[in-house]
Amino acid sequence: MSYLNIIEWEIIPDTTPEVKRNCPKCGEKKHYINSEKFRVNANGALIDIWLIYQCEKCKSTWNMTIHERINPNAISKIQYEKFQSNDRELAIQYGLDTNMHKKNKIEAIWESVRYNIISKELSQRSERKDEQQYIIKCKYPLQIRADKLLSEKLQISRSKIRSLYENGAIYTPECRNVLKLKAYDGMQIYIDNKNIVLSKE
Ligand SMILES: [Zn+2]
Repeated sequence: MSYLNIIEWEIIPDTTPEVKRNCPKCGEKKHYINSEKFRVNANGALIDIWLIYQCEKCKSTWNMTIHERINPNAISKIQYEKFQSNDRELAIQYGLDTNMHKKNKIEAIWESVRYNIISKELSQRSERKDEQQYIIKCKYPLQIRADKLLSEKLQISRSKIRSLYENGAIYTPECRNVLKLKAYDGMQIYIDNKNIVLSKE
């Protein structure tokens, strides 16, 4: 029996991009990893807040500036306490913040991000047979290409995903080349089920 299944794929980051920078101790470019720890420093009446990164090899630290010489009143008490208690979600949020990357002039390695995808069936309707709809939910854009996502979740090679797209079996309401798009919150992907079954055989 065929249905139009609507499935939500929620992408949840487990890590943030590693940062490529010169490590003075190693003497070459190394990947620095988000330690998920903050450093809060009072500087007279002003405060500085950094997110600490560590060299993958020698554990040397590098601090990514989040706030520089700000008045403590500029951030809420709750936020301030989160920095002080190394709130993990906040560390993930700042580690994924492209504005922070720009401000700190860092080279973020997005391919290094590890994530989980939670599938949830939203509803079933029989009106459009043999068609599957996927809706992407992601709080943070992780720069994951749609073809990579489809390949991982459907367990079909990327070349097969490409040929399915070329045959019109994978499409989006936007009519753009879905495979070149990066997954974003609210993205909708439609797939013809018959073709998926065939490509798995
Ligand atoms: Zn190092």
